[in-house]
Amino acid sequence: MRVAVLSAEAVPYSKTGGLGDVAGALPKALRAVGEDAFLITPCYWQTRGEYLWHTAVHDLDVEWRGGRYPAKAFYSEANGSPTFLIDAPSYFHRDSIYGYVEDYERFAFFNHAALALIKRLGAPPDIVHLNDWHCGFAAVELAHLRFWDSYWRDTRTVFSIHNLAYQGGFDLGELWKFGFSSDFERNAFAFNGYASAMKAGLAVSDMLSTVSRTYGYEMQTPANGYGLDWLLRERSDRLYGIVNGVDFDIWNPETDRELGAHYNALDLSGKRECKRQLLEQFSLPVDLDRPIFANITRLTAQKGIDLMMAVAGDILATGAYIVSLGSGERQYENFWQKLRDYAPRQVGVFRGYNESLAHRIEAGADVFMMPSKFEPCGLNQMYSLRYGTIPVVRAVGGLDDTVENFDAVSGTGNGFKFREYSPDKFLEKIYEALFAYYDKDAWRKLQWNGMTIDNSWENAARKYVELYRRTVS
Ligand code: ADP
Repeated sequence: MRVAVLSAEAVPYSKTGGLGDVAGALPKALRAVGEDAFLITPCYWQTRGEYLWHTAVHDLDVEWRGGRYPAKAFYSEANGSPTFLIDAPSYFHRDSIYGYVEDYERFAFFNHAALALIKRLGAPPDIVHLNDWHCGFAAVELAHLRFWDSYWRDTRTVFSIHNLAYQGGFDLGELWKFGFSSDFERNAFAFNGYASAMKAGLAVSDMLSTVSRTYGYEMQTPANGYGLDWLLRERSDRLYGIVNGVDFDIWNPETDRELGAHYNALDLSGKRECKRQLLEQFSLPVDLDRPIFANITRLTAQKGIDLMMAVAGDILATGAYIVSLGSGERQYENFWQKLRDYAPRQVGVFRGYNESLAHRIEAGADVFMMPSKFEPCGLNQMYSLRYGTIPVVRAVGGLDDTVENFDAVSGTGNGFKFREYSPDKFLEKIYEALFAYYDKDAWRKLQWNGMTIDNSWENAARKYVELYRRTVS
């Protein structure tokens, strides 16, 4: 099958979170299982020049807002699959990837240009795989195009929800500027008096998917549906949950280029060396027998930072280290900084985004904390499993699907999991993890169970192929 994957971000060209990891890896994985997949993503100012191999289309003249926008498309295979990067400087050469009032217009353009590009490339795709609200525009355009442009007649759309909380809302009055003027198009976007690109994607795509089974159920409830649960219930026969994979070319402790030592499930001596280097990097006293509790995240309420704030003192009281990498809301950044000032010999903090440090923390830490309020899939808990770093997670979304609570008697499970969103329940699991840490056999078993799980993209890609088949049949 010919599959065009569209995404607002994709590793290694751009990344702000899990979507980037997924969109970079999926087309490569689809090709590895025999499908003709390619990726289309914007070329940002942040996209490194070395990834732009050559110009694939010099004159991607796109009809836009009553005129023409002279875009280009670069070509690359830096992520392991053919990739076209849409170059539209006024939209994408900016200080950050997201965060502008006219983001909806930037991605409306990206969608429109991507469809124009696909047509220039030759054979029509069987599937256009759209990701999150940024790609809701293409779902509507294709639903419309299919009826009067024979090129698109047999193309079907799959729309994947990576995070329902971000919906790309804007004024309904803007729609006509992007060529959406029919009643069908207006109705697709209309949501509570404004236009929502997420709602449009959910309403008109041929098939829907999300990044874990549990999140697929959760999003159909008013508590987690962000006002769209009714639509998801209505379309639940078309909604599938497929857990993301881990790109082992990037996240593998045996080969990871960011690490000073390597290791695997059979020989963990390299992990001890990674721990030593991590403590040194944070200028912490090196005591390899004390556990390191780690967290890497966007600092937003979604990630359960307030639970971590509530238990940090108790963790420090046990003598453990805490290491935190992240940036985001000021109140949370301030908290970590204050904690570091309070216990400079136990706490390491890096405020900002640092890919290389993320790898070194995954390898050097002992316990990974992820007490999210909600978590569509979550990648860090899967990276942690692979790196022999035991996850302590809240049982929501993908965290519930990928982490199994440890049972010391039977020796099953790969982490620690609590359900109720409360500091006490979180702390109980932290203490259980500590207890296991000081029991060498139990810890070894936990690490083995996590490191030998097959969270590969190959598994996930096969499930997507099955979904695509169902979509075109
Ligand atoms: P989300 O997509 O909600 O941010 P995920 O767990 O699915 O959460 O994915 C987060 C990804 O972003 C992971 O690859 C994680 O390592 C990375 N990440 C998050 N914050 C940072 C940071 N400050 N520095 C480096 N990597 C980060």
